Amino acid sequence: MGKDRYRRQNLVKGFGKKGQKILASKQAVLIGGGGLGSNSANLLLRMGIGSIDIIDYDTIDITNLHRTSVFSEDDIGEKKASVLKKKLQPVNTDVHVKAINKKVTLKNIESLVKNADILIDGTDNIPLRLLINEIALKNNIPWIYAGVYETVGMVMAIIPKKTACFQCITPNIPLPKPQEIPVLGSLPATIAAIQCNEAIKVLIGKQPAGLIIYDVWNQCFDILDIKRNPCCPICGKK
Ligand SMILES: [Zn+2]
Repeated sequence: MGKDRYRRQNLVKGFGKKGQKILASKQAVLIGGGGLGSNSANLLLRMGIGSIDIIDYDTIDITNLHRTSVFSEDDIGEKKASVLKKKLQPVNTDVHVKAINKKVTLKNIESLVKNADILIDGTDNIPLRLLINEIALKNNIPWIYAGVYETVGMVMAIIPKKTACFQCITPNIPLPKPQEIPVLGSLPATIAAIQCNEAIKVLIGKQPAGLIIYDVWNQCFDILDIKRNPCCPICGKK
């Protein structure tokens, strides 16, 4: 709808109408519709991804509102994925948005992600990310890891057979203590935006950056070039 919708984006060198056309042909699957996921869904939809499946079994509560986009007090008690679809779909009716109110498990993950061109991590725990990693690599699907803790966020594009995988980088990722994850409200939006930037780059064939680490207090980025671990049980030579 509306040929002018992406006019300003199509003026961007290195993206252009060609990038827009590629983006419109791609299917993203977003796992987790909270702090990171609500922001990522909003951005990918506005930029013109072809379709987006939003998977989350959880409901919205008052503690989600400080770090999410889209949700309001009226949505408390509603399913995150359904509310994201309801509120985001009218923003861009060219994008096919599907809400999947399910918990991602070992049993269902493959059927949920098999048609994806890219997986967007909106989860908040390491075991689920290790599962996403394993299935993404098995099915040759790139995925964009993102995580937030207090005032530090991390993003990495993981491309099967090209980059290190999540299993390779886990020694660089601090394990959160088994408690509520502390997070500054503005951080998930920052990190989701970086995550979407990496997703767009991967989808149009540009080189991803490595493990990006951002710290709010110092306003600084580190980018670590992490090599594939040849002994990695997931991406190493078997
Ligand atoms: Zn690996």
